[in-house]
Amino acid sequence: AYASQRKPSWLLVRPPGDHDSASEYERLRTTVRELNLHTVCEEARCPNIGECWGGGTATIMLMGDVCTRGCRFCSVKTSRKPPAIDPNEPENVSTAISRWGLRYVVLTSVDRDDLPDGGASHIASTVGLLKRKMPAILVETLTPDFRGSNSAVDTVVNSGVDVFAHNLETVERLQHVVRDYRAGYRQSLKVLERAKFHPQRGQEIVTKSSLMLGVGERQSEVRQSMKDLLNAGVQILTLGQYLRPSHRNMKVEEWVHPEEFVEWKREGEALGFLYVAAGPLVRSSYRAGEFFIESLLR
Ligand code: SF4
Ligand code: SF4
Repeated sequence: AYASQRKPSWLLVRPPGDHDSASEYERLRTTVRELNLHTVCEEARCPNIGECWGGGTATIMLMGDVCTRGCRFCSVKTSRKPPAIDPNEPENVSTAISRWGLRYVVLTSVDRDDLPDGGASHIASTVGLLKRKMPAILVETLTPDFRGSNSAVDTVVNSGVDVFAHNLETVERLQHVVRDYRAGYRQSLKVLERAKFHPQRGQEIVTKSSLMLGVGERQSEVRQSMKDLLNAGVQILTLGQYLRPSHRNMKVEEWVHPEEFVEWKREGEALGFLYVAAGPLVRSSYRAGEFFIESLLR
Protein backbone atom coordinates (compact mmCIF):
# COMPACT_ATOMS: atom_id res chain seq x y z
CA ALA A 1 0.00 0.00 0.00
CA TYR A 2 1.21 3.45 -0.88
CA ALA A 3 0.86 6.54 1.22
CA SER A 4 -1.90 8.93 0.24
CA GLN A 5 -0.46 10.91 -2.68
CA ARG A 6 -1.73 14.13 -1.13
CA LYS A 7 1.05 16.23 0.31
CA PRO A 8 1.07 16.62 4.07
CA SER A 9 0.73 20.08 5.59
CA TRP A 10 4.46 20.70 5.99
CA LEU A 11 4.99 20.43 2.24
CA LEU A 12 2.17 22.79 1.37
CA VAL A 13 3.81 25.62 3.26
CA ARG A 14 6.44 27.18 1.07
CA PRO A 15 9.69 28.00 2.80
CA PRO A 16 9.90 31.66 3.77
CA GLY A 17 11.09 33.54 0.69
CA ASP A 18 13.85 36.09 0.83
CA HIS A 19 12.20 39.17 -0.63
CA ASP A 20 15.45 40.99 -1.30
CA SER A 21 16.40 38.25 -3.73
CA ALA A 22 13.68 38.90 -6.33
CA SER A 23 15.86 41.04 -8.61
CA GLU A 24 18.76 38.61 -8.30
CA TYR A 25 16.40 35.87 -9.43
CA GLU A 26 15.31 37.90 -12.47
CA ARG A 27 18.90 38.58 -13.40
CA LEU A 28 19.78 34.89 -13.46
CA ARG A 29 16.66 34.01 -15.42
CA THR A 30 17.42 36.45 -18.20
CA THR A 31 20.91 35.01 -18.76
CA VAL A 32 19.65 31.43 -18.75
CA ARG A 33 17.31 32.32 -21.63
CA GLU A 34 19.84 34.36 -23.59
CA LEU A 35 22.54 31.71 -23.53
CA ASN A 36 20.20 28.79 -24.07
CA LEU A 37 21.18 27.00 -20.87
CA HIS A 38 19.24 24.51 -18.78
CA THR A 39 19.00 24.66 -15.01
CA VAL A 40 17.73 21.89 -12.79
CA CYS A 41 16.20 24.60 -10.67
CA GLU A 42 13.74 25.42 -13.45
CA GLU A 43 13.39 22.03 -15.17
CA ALA A 44 12.52 20.30 -11.91
CA ARG A 45 10.38 23.28 -10.81
CA CYS A 46 12.35 23.27 -7.61
CA PRO A 47 10.53 25.02 -4.77
CA ASN A 48 13.78 26.46 -3.44
CA ILE A 49 14.61 28.55 -6.49
CA GLY A 50 14.03 31.96 -4.91
CA GLU A 51 16.17 31.09 -1.95
CA CYS A 52 19.02 29.49 -3.92
CA TRP A 53 19.29 31.94 -6.80
CA GLY A 54 18.86 34.86 -4.48
CA GLY A 55 21.61 33.43 -2.28
CA GLY A 56 24.11 33.02 -5.13
CA THR A 57 23.80 29.28 -5.89
CA ALA A 58 22.39 27.76 -9.09
CA THR A 59 22.47 24.29 -10.66
CA ILE A 60 23.29 24.17 -14.36
CA MET A 61 22.37 21.06 -16.34
CA LEU A 62 25.00 20.14 -18.94
CA MET A 63 24.75 18.00 -22.08
CA GLY A 64 21.14 18.80 -22.90
CA ASP A 65 17.82 17.83 -21.41
CA VAL A 66 17.51 14.29 -22.79
CA CYS A 67 18.93 11.38 -20.77
CA THR A 68 19.91 7.88 -21.90
CA ARG A 69 18.52 6.49 -18.65
CA GLY A 70 15.05 6.23 -17.22
CA CYS A 71 15.04 6.37 -13.44
CA ARG A 72 11.55 5.93 -12.00
CA PHE A 73 11.69 9.00 -9.77
CA CYS A 74 12.89 11.39 -12.47
CA SER A 75 10.92 13.35 -15.05
CA VAL A 76 13.75 14.09 -17.50
CA LYS A 77 13.05 12.86 -21.06
CA THR A 78 14.72 9.58 -22.13
CA SER A 79 16.22 8.55 -25.46
CA ARG A 80 18.79 5.98 -26.50
CA LYS A 81 20.40 8.54 -28.79
CA PRO A 82 20.02 12.08 -27.44
CA PRO A 83 21.01 15.07 -29.62
CA ALA A 84 24.74 15.81 -29.92
CA ILE A 85 26.36 17.87 -27.18
CA ASP A 86 26.61 21.61 -27.89
CA PRO A 87 30.36 22.25 -28.25
CA ASN A 88 29.83 25.87 -27.18
CA GLU A 89 28.26 24.87 -23.90
CA PRO A 90 31.40 25.18 -21.72
CA GLU A 91 31.94 28.70 -23.13
CA ASN A 92 28.29 29.69 -22.66
CA VAL A 93 28.15 28.35 -19.13
CA SER A 94 31.29 30.15 -18.10
CA THR A 95 30.02 33.39 -19.71
CA ALA A 96 26.76 33.09 -17.78
CA ILE A 97 28.40 32.33 -14.47
CA SER A 98 30.97 35.10 -14.74
CA ARG A 99 28.19 37.55 -15.65
CA TRP A 100 26.19 36.49 -12.60
CA GLY A 101 29.10 36.66 -10.25
CA LEU A 102 27.97 33.54 -8.39
CA ARG A 103 30.11 32.36 -5.51
CA TYR A 104 29.17 28.75 -5.94
CA VAL A 105 27.89 26.80 -8.88
CA VAL A 106 26.68 23.24 -9.18
CA LEU A 107 27.16 21.58 -12.57
CA THR A 108 25.07 18.52 -13.12
CA SER A 109 24.06 16.64 -16.24
CA VAL A 110 21.91 13.97 -17.72
CA ASP A 111 23.54 10.54 -18.12
CA ARG A 112 25.08 10.04 -21.55
CA ASP A 113 25.72 6.33 -21.88
CA ASP A 114 25.94 6.93 -25.64
CA LEU A 115 29.26 8.79 -25.30
CA PRO A 116 32.53 6.87 -24.89
CA ASP A 117 33.51 8.76 -21.72
CA GLY A 118 29.95 9.41 -20.53
CA GLY A 119 30.56 13.13 -20.99
CA ALA A 120 33.38 13.33 -18.42
CA SER A 121 35.65 15.43 -20.64
CA HIS A 122 32.81 17.86 -21.44
CA ILE A 123 32.15 18.33 -17.72
CA ALA A 124 35.87 18.73 -17.03
CA SER A 125 36.37 21.35 -19.72
CA THR A 126 33.43 23.36 -18.36
CA VAL A 127 34.98 23.30 -14.88
CA GLY A 128 38.38 24.23 -16.31
CA LEU A 129 37.02 27.25 -18.19
CA LEU A 130 35.09 28.45 -15.16
CA LYS A 131 38.15 28.23 -12.95
CA ARG A 132 40.29 30.07 -15.48
CA LYS A 133 37.78 32.92 -15.83
CA MET A 134 36.90 33.12 -12.13
CA PRO A 135 39.61 31.62 -9.95
CA ALA A 136 37.66 32.38 -6.76
CA ILE A 137 34.49 30.53 -7.68
CA LEU A 138 33.67 27.23 -5.98
CA VAL A 139 32.47 24.52 -8.33
CA GLU A 140 30.59 21.37 -7.47
CA THR A 141 29.95 18.66 -10.06
CA LEU A 142 27.02 16.33 -9.51
CA THR A 143 28.05 13.56 -11.85
CA PRO A 144 26.62 10.42 -13.44
CA ASP A 145 28.17 7.09 -12.41
CA PHE A 146 30.04 6.80 -15.74
CA ARG A 147 29.23 3.09 -15.38
CA GLY A 148 31.92 2.93 -12.76
CA SER A 149 34.74 4.01 -15.08
CA ASN A 150 37.77 5.12 -13.04
CA SER A 151 39.22 7.08 -15.93
CA ALA A 152 36.00 9.09 -16.37
CA VAL A 153 35.93 9.86 -12.63
CA ASP A 154 39.61 10.86 -12.77
CA THR A 155 38.91 13.24 -15.66
CA VAL A 156 36.37 15.12 -13.54
CA VAL A 157 38.49 15.02 -10.38
CA ASN A 158 41.51 16.42 -12.25
CA SER A 159 39.49 19.34 -13.68
CA GLY A 160 40.09 21.44 -10.58
CA VAL A 161 36.59 20.89 -9.17
CA ASP A 162 36.10 21.64 -5.46
CA VAL A 163 33.23 19.32 -4.56
CA PHE A 164 32.56 15.98 -6.23
CA ALA A 165 28.97 14.85 -5.76
CA HIS A 166 27.30 11.68 -6.92
CA ASN A 167 23.95 10.55 -5.58
CA LEU A 168 23.35 7.10 -4.17
CA GLU A 169 19.62 8.03 -4.29
CA THR A 170 18.32 5.16 -2.15
CA VAL A 171 19.18 2.15 0.00
CA GLU A 172 20.65 -1.03 -1.50
CA ARG A 173 17.44 -3.09 -1.60
CA LEU A 174 15.50 -0.45 -3.55
CA GLN A 175 18.13 0.45 -6.17
CA HIS A 176 16.46 -1.49 -8.99
CA VAL A 177 13.03 -0.15 -8.03
CA VAL A 178 14.09 3.49 -8.02
CA ARG A 179 17.00 3.88 -10.44
CA ASP A 180 17.72 2.80 -14.00
CA TYR A 181 18.90 -0.82 -14.40
CA ARG A 182 22.38 0.41 -15.37
CA ALA A 183 22.84 2.16 -12.01
CA GLY A 184 23.82 0.30 -8.88
CA TYR A 185 24.60 0.63 -5.20
CA ARG A 186 28.15 -0.74 -5.28
CA GLN A 187 28.95 1.04 -8.52
CA SER A 188 27.92 4.42 -7.07
CA LEU A 189 29.90 3.83 -3.88
CA LYS A 190 32.91 2.92 -5.98
CA VAL A 191 32.63 6.17 -7.95
CA LEU A 192 32.55 8.22 -4.74
CA GLU A 193 35.45 6.26 -3.30
CA ARG A 194 37.54 6.74 -6.41
CA ALA A 195 36.94 10.52 -6.34
CA LYS A 196 37.89 10.84 -2.68
CA PHE A 197 40.85 8.51 -2.65
CA HIS A 198 42.11 9.50 -6.07
CA PRO A 199 45.87 8.84 -6.23
CA GLN A 200 46.89 12.45 -6.97
CA ARG A 201 44.16 14.79 -6.02
CA GLY A 202 41.52 13.01 -4.02
CA GLN A 203 42.30 14.20 -0.54
CA GLU A 204 41.74 17.85 -1.45
CA ILE A 205 38.32 17.17 -2.86
CA VAL A 206 35.15 17.29 -0.78
CA THR A 207 32.75 14.47 -1.63
CA LYS A 208 29.02 14.55 -1.25
CA SER A 209 26.01 12.32 -1.81
CA SER A 210 22.26 12.30 -1.43
CA LEU A 211 19.43 9.94 -0.48
CA MET A 212 15.73 10.40 -1.18
CA LEU A 213 13.46 9.32 1.65
CA GLY A 214 9.87 8.16 1.31
CA VAL A 215 10.42 5.53 -1.41
CA GLY A 216 9.89 2.52 0.88
CA GLU A 217 13.21 2.36 2.73
CA ARG A 218 13.52 1.08 6.31
CA GLN A 219 15.33 3.09 8.94
CA SER A 220 17.92 0.34 9.43
CA GLU A 221 18.66 0.48 5.71
CA VAL A 222 19.15 4.26 5.76
CA ARG A 223 21.57 3.81 8.65
CA GLN A 224 23.48 1.16 6.65
CA SER A 225 23.66 3.44 3.61
CA MET A 226 25.07 6.21 5.78
CA LYS A 227 27.79 3.86 7.02
CA ASP A 228 28.56 2.68 3.49
CA LEU A 229 28.86 6.29 2.29
CA LEU A 230 31.18 7.14 5.18
CA ASN A 231 33.34 4.12 4.34
CA ALA A 232 33.57 5.44 0.79
CA GLY A 233 34.94 8.69 2.21
CA VAL A 234 31.82 10.81 1.69
CA GLN A 235 31.80 13.94 3.86
CA ILE A 236 28.54 15.73 3.08
CA LEU A 237 25.13 14.10 2.92
CA THR A 238 21.78 15.55 1.93
CA LEU A 239 18.45 13.89 2.70
CA GLY A 240 15.12 15.04 1.28
CA GLN A 241 11.57 13.83 0.69
CA TYR A 242 10.83 12.17 -2.66
CA LEU A 243 8.12 14.14 -4.45
CA ARG A 244 6.45 12.51 -7.45
CA PRO A 245 7.13 14.81 -10.40
CA SER A 246 4.30 13.40 -12.57
CA HIS A 247 1.80 10.54 -12.61
CA ARG A 248 4.22 8.55 -14.79
CA ASN A 249 6.74 8.42 -11.95
CA MET A 250 6.77 6.06 -8.99
CA LYS A 251 4.43 6.79 -6.11
CA VAL A 252 5.42 8.23 -2.78
CA GLU A 253 5.52 5.43 -0.18
CA GLU A 254 5.79 7.60 2.88
CA TRP A 255 5.77 11.22 3.94
CA VAL A 256 8.68 11.54 6.30
CA HIS A 257 7.95 13.93 9.15
CA PRO A 258 10.17 17.02 9.47
CA GLU A 259 11.20 15.93 12.96
CA GLU A 260 12.45 12.66 11.58
CA PHE A 261 14.73 14.60 9.22
CA VAL A 262 16.09 16.52 12.20
CA GLU A 263 16.80 13.18 13.84
CA TRP A 264 18.61 11.88 10.72
CA LYS A 265 20.79 14.98 10.63
CA ARG A 266 21.77 14.46 14.25
CA GLU A 267 22.46 10.78 13.69
CA GLY A 268 24.42 11.32 10.47
CA GLU A 269 26.69 13.92 12.00
CA ALA A 270 27.21 11.70 15.07
CA LEU A 271 28.22 8.86 12.73
CA GLY A 272 30.88 11.04 11.14
CA PHE A 273 29.61 13.24 8.29
CA LEU A 274 31.11 16.71 8.26
CA TYR A 275 27.70 18.09 7.42
CA VAL A 276 24.21 16.66 6.88
CA ALA A 277 21.47 18.77 5.30
CA ALA A 278 18.14 17.07 5.95
CA GLY A 279 14.56 18.22 5.50
CA PRO A 280 11.47 17.58 3.38
CA LEU A 281 12.49 20.15 0.74
CA VAL A 282 16.24 19.61 0.85
CA ARG A 283 17.69 18.74 -2.57
CA SER A 284 21.21 17.65 -3.30
CA SER A 285 22.14 21.18 -4.37
CA TYR A 286 19.98 23.06 -1.86
CA ARG A 287 21.89 26.21 -0.85
CA ALA A 288 25.00 24.20 -1.53
CA GLY A 289 27.30 27.17 -1.19
CA GLU A 290 26.25 27.89 2.32
CA PHE A 291 26.52 24.30 3.40
CA PHE A 292 29.92 24.02 1.84
CA ILE A 293 31.27 27.09 3.53
CA GLU A 294 29.69 26.16 6.83
CA SER A 295 31.05 22.65 6.75
CA LEU A 296 34.58 23.82 6.07
CA LEU A 297 34.54 26.40 8.86
CA ARG A 298 33.71 23.81 11.48
FE1 SF4 B 1 17.04 11.41 -14.35
FE2 SF4 B 1 19.66 11.29 -13.76
FE3 SF4 B 1 18.18 9.05 -13.92
FE4 SF4 B 1 18.78 10.45 -16.10
S1 SF4 B 1 20.24 9.36 -14.76
S2 SF4 B 1 16.79 9.57 -15.60
S3 SF4 B 1 18.69 12.54 -15.34
S4 SF4 B 1 17.97 10.70 -12.41
FE1 SF4 C 1 18.38 24.82 -7.87
FE2 SF4 C 1 19.18 22.87 -6.24
FE3 SF4 C 1 18.47 25.20 -5.24
FE4 SF4 C 1 16.61 23.61 -6.23
S1 SF4 C 1 17.85 23.18 -4.44
S2 SF4 C 1 16.81 25.81 -6.62
S3 SF4 C 1 17.72 22.65 -7.94
S4 SF4 C 1 20.21 24.83 -6.60
